[in-house]
This record gives sequence, C-alpha cells and structure tokens, in this order.
Amino acid sequence: MIKIKTTEELARMRVSCGMAASVRDAVAKAIKPGVTTLELDDYARELIDKFGAKSAFYGYRGFPGYICVSVNDEVVHGIPGKRVVRIGDILSVDFGVQYDGFIGDTATTVMVGVTDPEVIRLIDVTERALMAAIDQAVEGNRLSDISHAVESVAVAAGVGIVRDFVGHGIGRKMHEEPQIPNFGRPGRGPRLRAGMTFALEPMLNVGTEEVEIMPDGWTVLTKDRRPSAHFEHTVAVGVERAEILTVAENA
Ligand code: MG
Repeated sequence: MIKIKTTEELARMRVSCGMAASVRDAVAKAIKPGVTTLELDDYARELIDKFGAKSAFYGYRGFPGYICVSVNDEVVHGIPGKRVVRIGDILSVDFGVQYDGFIGDTATTVMVGVTDPEVIRLIDVTERALMAAIDQAVEGNRLSDISHAVESVAVAAGVGIVRDFVGHGIGRKMHEEPQIPNFGRPGRGPRLRAGMTFALEPMLNVGTEEVEIMPDGWTVLTKDRRPSAHFEHTVAVGVERAEILTVAENA
C-alpha cells in the first residue's frame, strides 16, 4: 500500500527534507581537490548534528558512513574513506536525514574541474531525467509514467539506465512502497494521489547499464568502469504539480 501523508505529516516531512537539502548543498560546496571523502562525511555528520537530526544512512543495514560518496565509475553506496578528490572527478553525494519521525532523502552529483564533454553531458542528462520524472508526479498519472519519463530522457541521450537500483516511497521509513524503476512503459501501476511521497533517483551511465558490487558489499560500480551520475529529490505528488521537498529553504 502506498501511504498518503496528511497535511500535518507533509509539513513535518518538509522540515526533514529541508535539512537534508541544506546539508547536501553545504557538502557539495565543500567538494574540492585534496579533500577526502571521509572529511566530507565528517562535515555532513557535524551539519546533521547541528540540526539535532539523525543520519538515516549511518548504521542502515550496517552502512558505516553518514553519507554515500560515489566517485566516477561508482554508481551509488560508496563508503567514505581515505580517497582524495582530484580534478576531473565527479562525486555523487547521497544521504537521508531523519527528524521528527520523518526522512528526507536526496543526492546530487558534483563535478570537480571536469572538462570531458561526455561527463558534463551525463550530468546534465541525469539532472534533466530527474526533473522529467518530477513533472510526472501528479495526481491522476500512473506510477510508471514517472519511470517512463526517466527512460525517455536517457534513451534520447543514448546513456545507460541503471536497472538494479530504483527510486522508492519514503516517509517514516526510508524505503516505503512503491519501488520506482527508472524505466518502463507509461500508463501502468497504481494511480498517483496527492500526498504520496517519493524519492525519485535516476542513476545513469555514460556506457553500459550493467553494474557490479565491490567486495566491500556496498559500493556499486559500472561494469565498464565508465562514469555514472545520480540525482535524487524527495517529492510530494500534487494535484497540479509535484512539490520538491528537498529544498534548503524548508529547513
Ligand atoms: Mg533513495
């Protein structure tokens, strides 16, 4: 069953999502050559603590970081560590914040002095795919209209769509029903209703859609080791249009 949040629950979700967005934006700004991914994790922890919030990722099925940091050919679920950020890298930063009983989940991919046109284009395409997905999160549409929107942008651009990981319902729990793949034929699945809240998150690759998991049990890599990008917002389905909850002004 897909939960429909009440007005009061949505108001509380705006706050946790705003905190997540605020931390996302601050960590994104801190990504510079020479910084380690663990330093970014520490910074995120400090910021989350300042809000009196909790990381929804730390300890999730034993995940050791406050954020996921996935560099270049890492798709998602990268573990913060000693890796040093270098010019030409792209970093996806993904995390959830829990506050007042609700979770906000968001991700962005940051370029560090990237000049490779293929990578710049991948980032642009992935962000556009997310926006196209959000445009479909409107009452009366079907769930797979969201999936199809991502697929359409990705196919038109000729990039690989990661199929093994999907968007999801979100609220009191990080992963609620339904699962939201980034591909599919339109007009299928449950009818969307205002107050449903989803974490929409296209993961797109320059090359093959195929991925594999590293021996650490977490880090997801592209099979061809070419770059991957990831953007995510938590949104509420609306009557006329979706509301993006993960904006920093909501904090
Ligand atoms: Mg998510």
